[in-house]
Amino acid sequence: MKIYNTLSKSKEEFIPLEEGKVKMYVCGPTVYNLIHIGNARPMIVFDTVRRYMEYKGLEVNYVSNFTDVDDKIIKKAIEEGVDSSVISERYIAECKKDMEALNVKPATTHPLATNEICGMLDMIGTLIEKGHAYAAADGTVYFRTRSFKEYGKLSHKNLDDLQGGNRSLLVSGEDQKEDPLDFVLWKPRKEGEPAWESPWCDGRPGWHIECSVMSKKYLGDEIDIHAGGEDLVFPHHENEIAQSEAANGKTFARYWMHNAFLNIDNKKMSKSAGNFFTVRDISEKYDLQVLRFFMLSAHYRSPLNFSADLMEAAKNGLERIVTAAEKLRDLQSKVTGELTEAEKASLEEAKGFMTKYEEAMEDDFNTADAISAIFEMVKFTNTNANADSSKAYVDALYAQLNNMADICGLILEKKAEILDEEIEKLIQERQDARKAKNFARADEIRNQLLEQGIVLEDTREGVKWKRA
Ligand code: AMP
Ligand code: ZN
Repeated sequence: MKIYNTLSKSKEEFIPLEEGKVKMYVCGPTVYNLIHIGNARPMIVFDTVRRYMEYKGLEVNYVSNFTDVDDKIIKKAIEEGVDSSVISERYIAECKKDMEALNVKPATTHPLATNEICGMLDMIGTLIEKGHAYAAADGTVYFRTRSFKEYGKLSHKNLDDLQGGNRSLLVSGEDQKEDPLDFVLWKPRKEGEPAWESPWCDGRPGWHIECSVMSKKYLGDEIDIHAGGEDLVFPHHENEIAQSEAANGKTFARYWMHNAFLNIDNKKMSKSAGNFFTVRDISEKYDLQVLRFFMLSAHYRSPLNFSADLMEAAKNGLERIVTAAEKLRDLQSKVTGELTEAEKASLEEAKGFMTKYEEAMEDDFNTADAISAIFEMVKFTNTNANADSSKAYVDALYAQLNNMADICGLILEKKAEILDEEIEKLIQERQDARKAKNFARADEIRNQLLEQGIVLEDTREGVKWKRA
């Protein structure tokens, strides 16, 4: 499996630190609003990387944070006159709904910055002790960038070039820094902002420290993959490397993966320019599977253009795959019998599409080529499976097509809607089980309903239910 590593600017063979296991950290969104379709790109791309690795038998420990303390969250909280946790909790819940509709698996752990302040204070303390950070007179703590000799290795920037570009900072009031390149680890409280006690001043963390700390806590000092959108390479990821490697004395992440940006009608997405869509906006017009399919139709390192025409094309493309799967399912219920010799040979041919698919994914997750292999498979099943086929043959073709789609997180089988009468019947059965003190069965029914998106609520007036 080859991964393009931003650090070496080349494709490298992927060798995990521990055989069979992958430690992966993906920078998550700042939760002050509904996520936009640009935010959905890294979610979908790296979820697909995870799914492919799991398909190959690797155990992936996938950590993705929510940044829940930030200027934009605080601004919104002040506007609404609520605590900033009200804003972040609201948008974390909304983000999780979008992720589910995009079929993005929940991370193994989704840490929140505000729950990890202790770890941040520890790491900042270590950096000060080791001479990599210092507190200014007002209690702001800065990272001493020049003390980390390898600074710039990820973004391939040279410290002196950076110094030139940053000279303006010196005149913009940040003169308590020893050097314009130094960046903030901890900053003093401002009126109306959330703040925590610290040895330097009451305040809150800078943005970069949270990822270094959460990655260390949930995955360890050294991890396999660190990922995010390409805008994060500098300064966010460069600063994370400096903090983690200076504090821990170990290589932070072996492979750095970055997705290219999503543009709209060939322009940068921006609210003020009026070309801005949330994932929720798109869900009003399309099943979000279409958005997922659209995102994967390009290689993750290529810029991706979003337009109404391209979404229509994605919708039609996905429909071709879903229709082929429906046709196979329909045949499955009609045909019988075992494989003929001719069918065995035909299945060998079909396996060739899976090989092509895997080759594409092994080559730095080229989902565009993997999807071409799915289309070849669709064409093949449309031509070869019919009422004269054996059940074993149709089953095998369906399993392969479904597998190819599933690795990309595309769902070919629509979840059957559970009818109101069936829900009522199960609720009655649960009531009977409870009366008979068969609580195991009662719980089983509750969980079964939950899996189908039905939430039960026991009230004084009896059991109420709703579709989640
Ligand atoms: P943010 O909430 O801005 O920190 O973004 C969360 C994630 O979305 C980061 O990995 C960003 O790099 C990524 N991201 C933001 N905008 C876009 C975009 N237009 N295209 C692709 N990725 C984006
Ligand atoms: Zn991060």
